[in-house]
Parts: sequence; C-alpha cells; structure tokens
Amino acid sequence: MKQVTMIVPCYNEAAVLDRFYEVLREKRGALDGYDLRLLFVDDGSADETAAILERLAENDDRVQYISFSRNFGKEAAMLAGLEHAGGDYIGFIDADLQHSPDLIPDMLHAVDAEGYDVAACRRADRKGESALKSVLSAAFYKVVNRMTDTYIDDGAQDYRIFTRQVADAMLSMPESNRFTKGIFSWVGFKTKWFVHENAERAAGESKWSLTKLMRYALDGIIGYTDAPLKLPIGLSGVSFAAALAFLIVFIVKLCTGAEPSVYYAWLVLFGIFCVGAMTLAGVGILGAYLARIYTEAKGRPRYIVRKTNIKK
Ligand code: UDP
Ligand code: MG
Repeated sequence: MKQVTMIVPCYNEAAVLDRFYEVLREKRGALDGYDLRLLFVDDGSADETAAILERLAENDDRVQYISFSRNFGKEAAMLAGLEHAGGDYIGFIDADLQHSPDLIPDMLHAVDAEGYDVAACRRADRKGESALKSVLSAAFYKVVNRMTDTYIDDGAQDYRIFTRQVADAMLSMPESNRFTKGIFSWVGFKTKWFVHENAERAAGESKWSLTKLMRYALDGIIGYTDAPLKLPIGLSGVSFAAALAFLIVFIVKLCTGAEPSVYYAWLVLFGIFCVGAMTLAGVGILGAYLARIYTEAKGRPRYIVRKTNIKK
C-alpha cells in the first residue's frame, strides 16, 4: 500500500473541521491501494481548532497535527507540513471543503500511474469571490507573469498532490519568504492540471483580509523578480534622453538669437535632467548589485534533476 499524506493548513476552522474530517474519512474508505493520512497544521487558531485536532488524532491513528504558537500564515503552515509529512505522495488541501475531495482518486492516479509528478487544480472561474479580490488577483498574476521567468497560472490553487521527489525539491529552496505557487512553478516537473468549479466555503469565513492578500501579493512579486531593482537604470536613460533634447533646444534657441532669458531656461533644464540621470544611474548600479546579492541570498539550488541513472 502506498502512503499519501494530505497537509491541511487550518486557521480558525473549528466550524468546518469535523465535516471536513468526515468527508475525507469517507473518501479514504473508498480509496483502493492507498493509505491516506491527514496532517493538520493549526496555524495559531484562536478558536477550538487545536482541541478538535487533538480529539481527531486521539481517535484515529492516521491523523496527525502540528499546532503553531501563533498565526504564522498559510505559507508557514504549508512549509511545516512539508517538513513533517511522510509517505510516497504528499498533497495540500484547504480545510474549508472548497477543494473538492472527489478529485483525490484522479489526482493520485495521475501521479502514480500516468507518469506525472504533480497533480494540480485550477479553478474554472472566480464565482463566489468578491469583485475586489477577483480584480486584484487578476492584476497580480498579470504583473508577476510579465516580470518573471517562472509562469504562474492565474487560477492555480494550492490544491495539489505530488511525489516525494517534488516535496524534496520544494524543501531544497531555503528562502523564508515563501510563495508556494511560485515555488511549484520554479521547481518545474510534469504537472497535470485539473479544472474544477469554484465551490463555496462549507462553513466559517475566508481568512484573507485585504492587507493579508496585499502582503501575499508583494511576497510573490518581490520573491520572484528583481525587476523593480532595475527600474532606476531605465529611468536614468529616459532622464538622459530628456536632457539631450533640452540641450538641442537650447542650441537652436541660441543660434536663432532668442532672448537670453529664454535660452538659459533650456540650459537649466538640461542641467537638472543631467544631474537626475546621473543620480538615477548611481542608484541603478547599486540596484543591479543588490539584485545579484538578493538572488544569491535566496540560496536556491542551481538546478533540480528529475531523472538520472547515476547512482549515489
Ligand atoms: N489559512 C491558514 N493560515 C492563515 C490563513 C488561512 O492556515 O493565516 C488556511 C485556512 O484555514 C484554509 C486555507 O488556508 O484552510 C485557505 O484559507 P481561506 O479558505 O480562508 O482562503 P480562500 O479560500 O478564501 O482564498
Ligand atoms: Mg477557502
């Protein structure tokens, strides 16, 4: 029997946890050939979540839990899960039943029998989501995908099942500002996509406030691109071009015998933009070095091997 560990990040999910567990237990009973385990990560919940998890774990030896000392965020919960999950296959699933457990058998089949490394879900639409959140996330994916070389699918969810090898690859990225969707895309591997309808939350409320989402988006952008650091170099070019244009106007005015007050104004503009261009260039050079330091500091592996016949 192959072992599958589903990691479930939970933050104040007391309202839905029992139902979630029942649904998954049912699925587990119907699952042939796999030993499905649940690893709950209580992300510092303020409600009964921790107590419920303790009770579930007591009555079912295929339930494990980790309880944080405070709310560290979903990314931290997923990392803790990855670091502690055993088994041949590992997965992430939300506790609110928005990630349909019906898909688990097909997802397992994809990684176990069809030669895929990752089975991932994307939602077909954004039904049931607030208009503001839809607009913001659509904008976020546009920006990220324009600036980075790792493509992140708009609508991709954290609902996935993957091989041990993929889990190890993800853990080989030591950065502390984690953005799992980006990490999945960065490590690569063969991914089969499942499309499903956006289900309503079974109970409780979404844990994402606008500020939390903004911070998450910023982590995604800053963690996956150093483009902003290179912005001043571009601006410096623009400023220098403007300075040149002003210089030309100055010379033309001078030669056509305009009033000194007129042609000196253009000279002053030329001077201001020249200084601006030099300052920006200086900042840009610093940015270029900083970008290098940033890349090195993340300490990511240079490559990830999928297959080889070299024995260790
Ligand atoms: N979650 C978490 N820590 C947080 C916020 C959320 O572990 O700080 C968990 C939450 O319990 C749920 C999952 O992440 O299992 C997704 O959160 P939610 O359903 O609130 O997000 P949404 O589906 O609205 O995007
Ligand atoms: Mg949800």
